[in-house]
Amino acid sequence: MAAIQCIERLGAWEGYELEDQQEELRGQSRWCILRLRARQGVLRRCSGCGWVGVAVHDQEERRIRDLPIFEVPVELVLPRLRLNCPHCGPKLEQLDWLEPYARVTVRLAASVSRLCQVMSLRHVAAFYGLAWSTVKLIDHRSLERRLGPPCADGVEVIAMDEFAIQKGHRYATVIVEPYRKRVLWVGRGRGRLDVRPFFELLGAEGRQRLRAVCIDMSSAYTNEVRFQCPQAEIVYDLFHVLARYGREVIDRVRVDEANRLRHDREARRLVKGSRWLLLRNRDNVTNEDDQVRLRDLLAANRALLTVYLMKDELKELWAYRHAGYASRFWSQWHWRAMHSRIQPLKRFARNLKALLPGILAHCHWPLGTNLIEGINNRIKVIKRMAYGFRDDAYFFLKIRAAFPGIR
Ligand SMILES: [Zn+2]
Repeated sequence: MAAIQCIERLGAWEGYELEDQQEELRGQSRWCILRLRARQGVLRRCSGCGWVGVAVHDQEERRIRDLPIFEVPVELVLPRLRLNCPHCGPKLEQLDWLEPYARVTVRLAASVSRLCQVMSLRHVAAFYGLAWSTVKLIDHRSLERRLGPPCADGVEVIAMDEFAIQKGHRYATVIVEPYRKRVLWVGRGRGRLDVRPFFELLGAEGRQRLRAVCIDMSSAYTNEVRFQCPQAEIVYDLFHVLARYGREVIDRVRVDEANRLRHDREARRLVKGSRWLLLRNRDNVTNEDDQVRLRDLLAANRALLTVYLMKDELKELWAYRHAGYASRFWSQWHWRAMHSRIQPLKRFARNLKALLPGILAHCHWPLGTNLIEGINNRIKVIKRMAYGFRDDAYFFLKIRAAFPGIR
């Protein structure tokens, strides 16, 4: 009897008392079944209007999951009451610990959504012995409540980037406030019209307030940004410029070198298999074997060494805070690229020159070199954790939740 009182006190199911407690074997696991009954003479609240009274219209038995006790899953069996409300008619009773039509208690739902921040849906479902779809629904609702609708009030600087949903077949756009690391908006697609809803959300006043927009230089966003907020400066971020350099220069030179070495099988193999080594940020090549390989590779291939060093130097451009100095540094870099006799490098330098204002704009709007890259990587992790469903709304909520913003 003392044990029952103890569970009842800890359970704190307001308005209900514990009638009895049973153990049940389901498959391989033991379950704890707690049968609750409605306390007599308690004032109850209408879930429609908040009216308080005692008149019960009818009741229906419900099975509700609660937090486990000592890792034993707990199921509550209780009568869910409908009150005879003078204003609403028959209406469910309002309970602080159980939402209308929920199949788990408020505290179990809170615990589930907390775990969903760090674990995959599948693991959370297995941990609590809940259906995968139940866990997802709980997390979805909790995120919606926590985040509310997208809001971009008072924003002056934004960064826009695209990312792939499902192995590169479909794309979406994420828009962030870079200084506060806050995701403002996520939407399907990466075209002009796809991002228009964001600018509509901003309203005329919000659009006029924008002072700088950071984008990928090859994206389709440029035209829409020019159209929506012509006064805003366009800024090209380091991450995208370097990614393009990797694709258009390093990769190209590597393939050319491999072709040139087609009679020297050993050297050719080394060059061909070096893609990731060359594209990786040099600070991230920490493995000693890789460092030796990279050194040998660059020593044997003058063109590769040149484009590799030119990439490191190009990066320096983003360290400048003074547009005049940055411009002088750029001229030197550009001169060397144009005299390198390496075609892909020359072509890249020529193209980049046309975009110079957007690159120098970085001096006025320093955005941190790894913000966009960081968001990109985080989205990949979220995608992996949430893999197995095709639900944009939930996926986008997860992205917003991962970058709620710093104050
Ligand atoms: Zn009512």
